[in-house]
Amino acid sequence: MSDFEHIRIANDAYLAESYARFPVAITGGEGATLFGADGKKYIDFGSGIAVNLFGANDEGWKTAVKEQLDLIAHVSNYYYSEPQGRLAELLCERTGAKRVFFANSGGEANECAFKAARKYSYMKYGAGRNKIVSLKGSFHGRTLFTLTATGQEEFHRYFDPFVPQVDYAEPTIADVRRVAGGDTCAVVIECVQGEGGVEALDPGFVRALAAECRERDILLICDEVQCGNGRTGKLYAYEHYGITPDLVTTAKGLGGGLPIGACLFFDRTEHVLKPGDHGSTFGGNPVCCAGGCYVMSRLSEEFLLEVQGRAEYLRAKLKNICGVTRVTGLGLMIGLETGRDAKAIAGECLNRGLLVLTAHSHVRLLPPLNIGKTEMDEGLAILREVIEG
Ligand SMILES: *Cc1c(COP(=O)(O)O)cnc(C)c1O
Repeated sequence: MSDFEHIRIANDAYLAESYARFPVAITGGEGATLFGADGKKYIDFGSGIAVNLFGANDEGWKTAVKEQLDLIAHVSNYYYSEPQGRLAELLCERTGAKRVFFANSGGEANECAFKAARKYSYMKYGAGRNKIVSLKGSFHGRTLFTLTATGQEEFHRYFDPFVPQVDYAEPTIADVRRVAGGDTCAVVIECVQGEGGVEALDPGFVRALAAECRERDILLICDEVQCGNGRTGKLYAYEHYGITPDLVTTAKGLGGGLPIGACLFFDRTEHVLKPGDHGSTFGGNPVCCAGGCYVMSRLSEEFLLEVQGRAEYLRAKLKNICGVTRVTGLGLMIGLETGRDAKAIAGECLNRGLLVLTAHSHVRLLPPLNIGKTEMDEGLAILREVIEG
């Protein structure tokens, strides 16, 4: 029996049946090249869903994480811990945020933002002004509150009753006005929708929304879990839109490969959370924060320009593939429309040694931010073979 078969059998026998997996087990890697238990090499255009920003086995990141591991792996939030303060400071310096709450995942970061938005409104306007408006096609997580805020019906099957006072709008200012009445405390957006289909929001809409929110003291939450941390060629995707949100949530790439989420509080929300309002046992784990500090230090303005360069290169080549009708998204968050079943394309790519993701009808590419030209070209060649047939 092959190594892969051993792995597959244990997985299939004992794990909850919640994941439909591709028939490959990843055992290691180097940059944007991953190794399978089948002995094959795979070019990685997925980064573990935008998590492994610098690919596999990045030396600088590993050193930062190991140094912290040798000091202490976990400190309870009853006590101070140096890496938390360091990462929070880096995040605030780079974004203009005032404070940070650390969670362990994107869903939890959003959970924190939604709770904070409700408390902000409660303290200022009293009970009842508590509606969260999200956009149709959005994805905000799998906890019951964030699942409720996910504007896609297919995720809602089986799990009602949902959290009350969450509603959905089309990404137009007219529809947000229709849905967001006087009982609304926050609107949450992904500047580039990820799971919903790799579509960047219209800049005119986002700016009008920010103005509307400011005027009515509705908090604007930017969910940067997927599109943040350098993915689009800016540190956070909202920077492309020239807006200042009231709350920013992020996760995925923030730890560079370790689980961490963050909710960033800006001017209006700085003092919302007080002792006892929110918490997390693992939130702000020092090893994860050390990974995050390394990520932030590496995502310099110079590095982000290189990300933009790589994105331009990939996008130009992808547009030239016969059968690609549209290239969507921003930076290295790339969607491909082909008119063909995206899952079938992903399966064929895998067979030829390329890992890609999908989002509904789009093939979704989220390569490591430092991917080299050789690996981009190898991946492009496989995509071309599969799509051109
Ligand atoms: C992945 C994702 C989440 C959920 O993050 P988890 O870490 O899986 O909880 C939330 N929002 C967006 C935009 C995401 O892409």
